[in-house]
Amino acid sequence: MANLENGTFKKLDVVVVGGGLAGSLEALFLAKRGHRVRLYEYREDIRNTPQARGRSINLALSIRGRTALREVGLEDHMINNHGIPMKGRNIHRIDGSTYIIPYDSRTKQCIYSVGRNYLNGLLLQESEKYENVERFFNHKLIASNLREGFLSFQKTDTKEIVEVNADLIIGADGAFSAVRKEIMKQPLFDYNQKYIEHGYLELCIPPDSNGGFQMPPNYLHIWPRGEFMMIALPTRTGSWTVTLFMPFTHFKSLDNEDKLLKFFEKYFPDSIPLIGKQKLIADYFAGSASPLIAIKCRPYNVEDKALIIGDAAHAVVPFYGQGMNAGFEDCTILNQLFQKPHDDLAKILKEFSDTRWEDTFAISDLAMYNYIEMRDLVTRPSYLLRKAIDDV
Ligand code: FAD
Repeated sequence: MANLENGTFKKLDVVVVGGGLAGSLEALFLAKRGHRVRLYEYREDIRNTPQARGRSINLALSIRGRTALREVGLEDHMINNHGIPMKGRNIHRIDGSTYIIPYDSRTKQCIYSVGRNYLNGLLLQESEKYENVERFFNHKLIASNLREGFLSFQKTDTKEIVEVNADLIIGADGAFSAVRKEIMKQPLFDYNQKYIEHGYLELCIPPDSNGGFQMPPNYLHIWPRGEFMMIALPTRTGSWTVTLFMPFTHFKSLDNEDKLLKFFEKYFPDSIPLIGKQKLIADYFAGSASPLIAIKCRPYNVEDKALIIGDAAHAVVPFYGQGMNAGFEDCTILNQLFQKPHDDLAKILKEFSDTRWEDTFAISDLAMYNYIEMRDLVTRPSYLLRKAIDDV
């Protein structure tokens, strides 16, 4: 049980499971409050990994995420030295013509394209400034007893078992969270998951021969095609992270080079010279489409012992660009709750759990709505909007 010592929390021994975006940021927040933090990450240190692993190379950072980064002193760096402002949607029609839908023509707010690896690496780097943070990579959580504050990890290289105890366990281990699986054993835990019929595959538009952008860089580019769509986010190297979202049945049917090129010539003709025919073929057949899952669950805590945050608590489909941002907002909110003038950790975790779910459920619903809006409704007159939503 945590106590107040001279008006602040007694220093807790915290284990954060998962050193992705939410986990590494939460470790920073806790370190700044003076707690002992041990961060255990399944994979190797992302700073030693040349490419983003699996998921989108670039992400849209919005105000929720920026607010959290501000609290740990990293917002200016991300916005001024790294992020690429995206002022609106740049819509590509099938004939190759484009038009712009600004995000905010009144106050000129925008979102920023940021590199996943870069941001994750920066958060880990920043945590090295704190002596009270230790990082353990290649450690996979394989068993736990949350009420006892007990965790068992297996080293992925040596297979050695590492057992640790903590005052508080933060599960930031993503959509397929091992910590959440343990919480699911608790009575009255609500859980709902939905895989959508669309998957996604990452492609790339390389820089031009001078290392510059082949398209206007300050936009999120969208090729909405009704049942499917493609989007592109700018990166610092002049290239674009391109993501193709389609029903799995479509991915399956494009099973040879000829079919793939015919499909692109029909639906995304202007993208072929940008990507390059050979690169399109190589990148498309190098990977396979990944699934998209939305998870709603509650409560997020187990008494004063454990809490899940980020995708572990609320994975959302990516069409609203708010998954990481919502995970970052979890860290801001938790930090605010730690400033309450009482010493009751159980109360703090319960308050987080009781108040946070309504917002995360709403973000999840908005993301599902934007799943239709982005691929279809941006191309239609607004009177059809209500009908299309009702039809879903
Ligand atoms: P993760 O990033 O999944 O990190 C979890 C970490 O836990 C991983 O490093 C993993 O290795 C580790 N881990 C897992 N299991 C264990 C274990 N057993 N033991 C130890 N460690 C473990 N969000 C946005 O805000 N803006 C966007 O533009 C955006 N675009 C997206 C595009 C796509 C295609 C996708 C798929 C997602 C997008 N998102 C976006 C969502 C965003 O990627 C996630 O919300 C975000 O990565 C969640 O961060 P997290 O730290 O909670 O989970």
